Amino acid sequence: MTSGMEVIEDIREKMKELEKEGFKKKIFISDLTPRDGQQCKLATRVRTDDLLPLCEKLDKCGFYAVEVWGGATYDVCLRYLKEDPWERLRRIKEVMPNTKLQMLFRGQNIVGYRPRSDYTVKKFVEKCVKNGITVFRVFDSLNDNRNIETAVKAIKEFGGEVHAEISYTRSPVHTYKRWMEYARELADMEPDWISFKDATGIMPPLECYQIIKGIKEATNGQIPVLLHNHDMSGMATINHMMAVLAGVDMLDTVLSPLAFGSSHPATETIVAAFEGTPFDTGLDLAKIAEAAEEARKMKKKYKKYETEYAGVNAQVLIHKIPGGMISNMVAQLIEANAIDKLEEALEETPRVEADLGYPPLLTPSSQIVGVQAVLNVITGERYKTITKEVRDYVEGKYGKPPGPIAKELVEKILGPGKEPDFSTRAADLADQEEWEKAVKELGPLAKSEEDILLYILFPMQAKEFLTLREKGELHPEPVEELPEVAETEAGQVVGAAPVEFEITYHGDKFKVKVEGVSPESELGKPRKYYVRVDGRLEEIQLLPKKEAIPSGSGATATTAPAEEGGIPKATEPGDTTPPMPGKVVRILVEEGKPVEKGQTVAIVEAMKMENEIHAPIDGIVKQIFAKPGDQVNPDEAILRIEPFKEDDSYQ
Ligand code: MN
Repeated sequence: MTSGMEVIEDIREKMKELEKEGFKKKIFISDLTPRDGQQCKLATRVRTDDLLPLCEKLDKCGFYAVEVWGGATYDVCLRYLKEDPWERLRRIKEVMPNTKLQMLFRGQNIVGYRPRSDYTVKKFVEKCVKNGITVFRVFDSLNDNRNIETAVKAIKEFGGEVHAEISYTRSPVHTYKRWMEYARELADMEPDWISFKDATGIMPPLECYQIIKGIKEATNGQIPVLLHNHDMSGMATINHMMAVLAGVDMLDTVLSPLAFGSSHPATETIVAAFEGTPFDTGLDLAKIAEAAEEARKMKKKYKKYETEYAGVNAQVLIHKIPGGMISNMVAQLIEANAIDKLEEALEETPRVEADLGYPPLLTPSSQIVGVQAVLNVITGERYKTITKEVRDYVEGKYGKPPGPIAKELVEKILGPGKEPDFSTRAADLADQEEWEKAVKELGPLAKSEEDILLYILFPMQAKEFLTLREKGELHPEPVEELPEVAETEAGQVVGAAPVEFEITYHGDKFKVKVEGVSPESELGKPRKYYVRVDGRLEEIQLLPKKEAIPSGSGATATTAPAEEGGIPKATEPGDTTPPMPGKVVRILVEEGKPVEKGQTVAIVEAMKMENEIHAPIDGIVKQIFAKPGDQVNPDEAILRIEPFKEDDSYQ
């Protein structure tokens, strides 16, 4: 790595070149607002109906491409919005006839969380092109480029445009030399573009300059290079400037209402910065302003999804954890009733990252690292519970990590004296029959190959989605704008409910304002309140257990809901509980059968990971309380194991 002074000397040389008569180099811009922008700032919760006006305006701006799909879109559409992601793509295509549509593609993981067969990858690419995608941003979260080869070939075969990505991180194994090796590996695949991506937003400007210049040189200037730089530490805008000086050809930006911080530098900012210079983007700020207006409306409507971690947070320079990952960890810790352990979890994350060979923290490795770090602090013992994903990772099912895996972890998973083997491609370790199985399991629920892909990538969510669609009962989560209410000073109107007050709790005073309430919920399901505590918007779920009847109110009873079979609270030593709230995926034992302490008895999906649940004691499975699909909490018994009695013949 060269010193800062050398970079500055180099830039001085560059400046001379710029002074030459007629020097001109148009910088291309890809706008990412409808995908990355809303993913970073609004948790990907914007519905298609609300995206279309923005897309229409973006189509008139003349961007190189607009990113509208992929990444978390697919998952969130199914999980929360109850929208068909393919339908979204077709509708966007209709209103954007003049612009190349771009998607983020996780290589062999497609848009999911683990590697799939080559057949599935090819089918997916075929359907993307058919439904309107032109530009594919393809990456592998380990930078194991064997994991993008199939996608790259398929994209070319079906006529798409390949933007092959290198994912930046900082670690002892990620050296300048390493970045150049990756660049040459990608160049051998002959992509249309090479994308250098810092998803965490921690790359310093001079290093950015060196790497971009290095990639241009390593590829003999034959392949155009772009920079995708999140702004978490606030350095991305400087990096854009440095990258331009280093010879970059395109920059990724987001419209100003959803820009900066966890997102990207603003489109308007970057366009204006180079306007009238040799690097002019050729874009019209007035047209972009019209699109930005739509983004502003969107931001207002989906305000409740804005997180505290969406702004610039220079702490990222210390813990290196991307914003989206922190919000996930916070959500997981709140669910597990352990938010007081956040600091511990943030400190544990780099240790797990190091144990796993320094994977860049991108999907799915960010989830693999994050969930394991959370588990390590919740359970109070490192690797007491190991997720199935960490196990698979060490077994090479995700590909080859950048650095070596910690010996203790390897031995814990593979056995004493064993070494991991990463010689087989992740794709070849994936289920080769997944397509046929999905066709069989879905039967008449599947109306198209797109439906089969939904199911292969997200089996539980897709099954639920397709079943509801069949019954005509697809209802998205409500996205009401925070309602405006008539308010008055306290004590002015008799019977008015307080909506803004001070709470003194254990001597601490909090200012609380109720901003909104979700529509009346079903009995037995929590109702959401949006409450601002000391200026910060929080979502509170309220599940009424008992209600007081005001005297003389003339209240009448509604029909009481039937008592559910329910999952009992854990009381016995043999009661098997999940370490955090989640959905039961599989029960692996039967009632009446013996189990050993530590044996995996169930799989619970929590935080998008499958977690093995182990028997707490030796004994016999007495009763199974939960079934696949049930939601279980850490204080609830999935099943009960009765310790062996003296005369048990099993012992
Ligand atoms: Mn991104």
